[in-house]
Amino acid sequence: MKTLDGPTDHVVVVGAGLAGLSAALHLLGAGRAVTVVERGTRPGGRAGRVEHGGYRIDTGPTVLTMPDLVDEAFAAVGDTLADRLDLVPLHPAYRARFADGSALDVHTGADAMAAEVERFAGAREAYGYRRLRHWLEKLYAVQMRRFIDANFDSPLGLLHPDLVRLAALGGFGRLDARIGSFISDERLRRVFTFQALYAGVPPAKALAAYAVIAYMDTVAGVYFPRGGMHALPQAMADAAADAGADFRYGHDVSRLERSAGGTGDRITAVVTGRGEDQVRIPCDAVVLTPDLPVTYRLLGRPPHRPVPLRFSPSAVILHAGTDRTWPGLGHHTISFGRAWKGTFRELTHTGSLMSDPSLLITRPTATDPSLAPPGRHLHYILAPCPNTLVGPGVQEWADLGPRYRDSLLTELEHRGLDGLAAAVEEQCLVTPADWAAQGHAAGTPFSAAHTFAQTGPFRPRNLVRGTTNAVLAGCGTTPGVGVPTVLISGKLAAARVTGGVPRGRRR
Ligand SMILES: Cc1cc2nc3c(=O)[nH]c(=O)nc-3n(C[C@H](O)[C@H](O)[C@H](O)COP(=O)(O)OP(=O)(O)OC[C@H]3O[C@@H](n4cnc5c(N)ncnc54)[C@H](O)[C@@H]3O)c2cc1C
Repeated sequence: MKTLDGPTDHVVVVGAGLAGLSAALHLLGAGRAVTVVERGTRPGGRAGRVEHGGYRIDTGPTVLTMPDLVDEAFAAVGDTLADRLDLVPLHPAYRARFADGSALDVHTGADAMAAEVERFAGAREAYGYRRLRHWLEKLYAVQMRRFIDANFDSPLGLLHPDLVRLAALGGFGRLDARIGSFISDERLRRVFTFQALYAGVPPAKALAAYAVIAYMDTVAGVYFPRGGMHALPQAMADAAADAGADFRYGHDVSRLERSAGGTGDRITAVVTGRGEDQVRIPCDAVVLTPDLPVTYRLLGRPPHRPVPLRFSPSAVILHAGTDRTWPGLGHHTISFGRAWKGTFRELTHTGSLMSDPSLLITRPTATDPSLAPPGRHLHYILAPCPNTLVGPGVQEWADLGPRYRDSLLTELEHRGLDGLAAAVEEQCLVTPADWAAQGHAAGTPFSAAHTFAQTGPFRPRNLVRGTTNAVLAGCGTTPGVGVPTVLISGKLAAARVTGGVPRGRRR
C-alpha cells in the first residue's frame, strides 16, 4: 500500500462529517496530533440536525447498519460504542407496503424472516429466501475483506483469488436478475433490490455485487441510536475531543498553502476564512473530506478522468412534525408504488419526478419519543428524485418544491395516512436546490453514482497526483456513499497517513 511521504505528526482533517470523524479517531489511535476543521457549527455534515419548534430532526441518514464499524473507530482510541451510544436494534428493520394493499415486515433473524416470507408468498419463496440469505452472507464475506475495506493502488489490486470467488458467486451479473434466481415474487424482489438506489444505479443495471447493501440491512441488522442519528457523529466527536483532537468549528477552509512558495508538492498549512479573518493552521499532512468539487478546487487540480463523473439521483425530503401518527407505519416504512422499472427510468434518464412514487417514511419517534414534544410525532418522508443535471434545475425547485410536497401528502393520504396534511404542525422541506446550496455537485447529497466505472479502483482514488501529503476520505472517494462506507473511508485514509493496517481490519 502506498502511503504519504515525509512527516505526518500533525494531521489536519477538513470536515467533521462521519468520514472526517472516523479518520480523526483512527489517526489519534495511531498517535498523531489531529486538528479537525469544520465550516459548520457542529459535527455530522450530512448526518446533520435541525431543531425546530421543539422537534429534533435528523437531516441525513436514517438507516444505520454495521455498527461494528463505529465500534472500530471508538476502539482506535480505547473507547467503546456501548459507553458512548445507546443503540436500539430495529425489529422489524423495515415494513414494506405494496400498491396491492399487502405488507411485509423485513426481519433480520433468519427464521423470523423465513416465516414472514412464507406467510406473504408461500413456502417455495421462503426456501428461496433462505438460499438468497446464504448467498448474501458469502458475497459479503468475499467483498468486505478484499474490495470494500481495502486501499487500492491500481486496478491490478483487484487481481486476487477473491475476484474469482466473486465472479463465481455471480457478482458481475445484474442485481435484479441474480435476486430473481432465488425468489420470483416481484414484491419480494423489490425488498432485496431497492437498495441499488442507495448506490445511485437502477437494480436492472447495478452489479449483483451491490447486493452487499441488502446484506447489511436485511441480514446484519438496522439500528437506531437513542437521541437520534445525530447522536452518532456527536458521540464520535466527543470521543475524538477526549482523545486530544482540536476541533475548530465555524472555520471554512478557503485554501491550502503549498511548499516552495506555493508551487511545491507538499501542503504546509490549511487556511480558513478570507482577508483579515484568515487563520493559518500549519500541518504535516491533510485529510480532505468535502464533496469532490470542493476538494479538487482546494487542491487546484481536477483529476484526469476519460469520462466525466456521473452523479446519483437526489432526494426531496419532507420533515413533518405532526399531532398524530398512523398504526400501519413502522420505524422505517417503504411505500412502494405500482410502477418500478419506469420509476428508475424517470429518476436516472427522463429526469421527471416519479409518476407513481416509491417512498421511504421514517418515524424516529416510534423508537425515541423524546425527539418530538410530548404527544407529537416526527415523520421523515424521502422521495428520490432526479439530480439537477438530469431533471429540474436549481431555479425550478423554488416553485416545484411546495407543489411536489403537496402532491406527496395527497398521495400518502390515498395510501392510508388519512388526515396527514392537516396533522402537520411543523415542517421543513429539503429539495435538490438546498443540496446544491450546500455545495453538493448536481444537487445530490449522494455523490458520484456507483456505476462499474466509478467503483473500487475506478472510483476517484483517495491518493491524489501532484501532492505528497494529502489524502481524500468521504463519500466521493473509495469505497463510496453510505454510513458504513464513509466510516471505512476515514479508516483507509488514516492508514494512508500512518502506513498501518487499519486496526480491527478483518482478514
Ligand atoms: C438525506 C440523506 C439520507 C441518507 N440516508 C442514508 C442512510 O439511511 N443510510 C446510510 O448508510 N447512508 C445514508 N446517507 C448517506 C450518508 O449519510 C453519507 O454518505 C455520509 O454521511 C457522508 O459523509 P461524509 O463525511 O463523506 O460527508 P459530509 O457529511 O458531507 O462531511 C463533509 C464535511 O466537510 C465539511 N466541509 C465542506 N467543505 C468545507 C470547507 N471548505 N471547510 C471546512 N469544512 C468543510 C462539511 O460541512 C461537512 O461537515 C444519506 C445521506 C443523506 C444526505
